[in-house]
Amino acid sequence: VSGEHPVDVIVVGSGVVGLSIARELGRAGITTSCIGPGHDGDGAASAAAGAMLGALGEVTAGAAGEPERDELLLRLAAAAAYPGFVDELEDETGRTVARGSGTVVVANLVNEQDRANLRAISATAHEHGVRVEDVDPDEVAGLNPARGYEAVGACHLPDEGWVDTSELLVALAYAVRTGERTDLERATVSGIRTDGGRVVGVELADGTVRGASTVVLAAGVAVQELLDGIGEPVGPLPGLLPGKGVSIRVRAPELAVPHVIRTPNRDFACGTHVVPRGDGSTYIGATNRVSATPGAGPGITPGELHSLLNSAIHEINTGFRTAEYLTSCFGLRPLTTDHHPLVGATAVPGLFVATGTYRNGVLLAPELARVVTEELTGRAPHNPFRPDAPFRRGRVRREEMLDAVDAGMRDLVSFLVEPGGHLPYNRHRELRTFLQALGRGAACGGDTAEFRRMRELLERYPIAEMVPQVFYEITTDRRPA
Ligand SMILES: Cc1cc2nc3c(=O)[nH]c(=O)nc-3n(C[C@H](O)[C@H](O)[C@H](O)COP(=O)(O)OP(=O)(O)OC[C@H]3O[C@@H](n4cnc5c(N)ncnc54)[C@H](O)[C@@H]3O)c2cc1C
Repeated sequence: VSGEHPVDVIVVGSGVVGLSIARELGRAGITTSCIGPGHDGDGAASAAAGAMLGALGEVTAGAAGEPERDELLLRLAAAAAYPGFVDELEDETGRTVARGSGTVVVANLVNEQDRANLRAISATAHEHGVRVEDVDPDEVAGLNPARGYEAVGACHLPDEGWVDTSELLVALAYAVRTGERTDLERATVSGIRTDGGRVVGVELADGTVRGASTVVLAAGVAVQELLDGIGEPVGPLPGLLPGKGVSIRVRAPELAVPHVIRTPNRDFACGTHVVPRGDGSTYIGATNRVSATPGAGPGITPGELHSLLNSAIHEINTGFRTAEYLTSCFGLRPLTTDHHPLVGATAVPGLFVATGTYRNGVLLAPELARVVTEELTGRAPHNPFRPDAPFRRGRVRREEMLDAVDAGMRDLVSFLVEPGGHLPYNRHRELRTFLQALGRGAACGGDTAEFRRMRELLERYPIAEMVPQVFYEITTDRRPA
């Protein structure tokens, strides 16, 4: 391949991950070109993030496997290193990047999981020696929920921070564009070039090529398409799905507080959260629609804006109702099919991936950059999320599928009764248990006690009335997960 300016490394993608990697490689003395259409195009996840630096706020009750623990440790390491990362970036570029520390997590009765997640956050903070304190929700500055949505518990994580992503991206892009060993090219990569099975460069959408002996795919959810087009065995990699998230910005100086206020993770998303911005505005996030669910296509739906605003106004601060509306934005979070980040060398010599950051890419970007840089400079970093990590082999075990069904059905029911709705009595728990039993049966080919019982009843009494019979048998026999 005859590239115009052959470099050591090409980083594909100019979101927070690609830019952080290119900058770090340059600092390590590796000539690097970062290629991407810009960090703020439609669908770029980085531009849609607030962003919380949510090491502990992202803890979810019951997620206790080894990869979950490794990911927590990665988030904690990233959070501890973040102030230094931003300080250096500011020194290097002469630009300011607004950030701060302090996150208040509030639990209310809208979502049953809130209190369990709040307890898990506090317990995990204690376990890892991170400062946490229970606070009276009435004393939290900026928290003024509507009647019926009052918080029933809150904890303050004084060291859990936030960063203004728009200022961060501008500073990172500047650092890469002006770095001694780095450059930033505004272009789209249409394919990866290989020769004799190893990477030799990339082809751009206009047909020109750029040569490099190493290519790092850091194009967020678009990494999947680039991998699919290679035509070489890239190894058994997890798939990538888009988790579309919508966020908005409002101006309400009287409501602005210098810390994050968030609910815990809930209903497939990272809760409702408000994050300060450097220009005095307030960021409100975020929804999550994965893959082919209704509304997951490009663009922002009225339903997404409604659920975001409904939650922020009722659960965080009724004052947002009269704030000045500024902008809305959507981004596609890169979600791997095993739920964990994906970083390191693939089976194609010279080809690396760095993605799968899902809800935490702004926080994790400097850590991914460190891992890639250490690998490319011959050090062997501790990297539990490399493509051939042991936990990735032989996945989709029965237990994992059943766990996914249980959590998915729980969140589905909870999600369906939002916003503001609820089923009478204990109906949502019964429905959840019923759907979990059906989902578990379906996931393992119908070979569960509930499925056998259902077949037995329907064979004997092939009438619709048998469905409630099964429903009550299942929901009274089993405790909901
Ligand atoms: C609403 C929302 C809220 C979030 N909140 C937080 C938060 O509070 N904290 C946090 O840490 N994370 C948060 N995240 C997650 C975080 O934003 C992502 O994990 C992270 O931004 C992923 O970064 P990325 O660089 O991999 O992807 P992206 O930002 O999507 O960047 C990928 C880049 O690659 C480019 N590209 C695509 N195809 C090509 C191609 N063929 N050639 C060249 N370039 C290409 C795109 O144009 C884009 O610029 C949030 C995400 C969303 C959507």
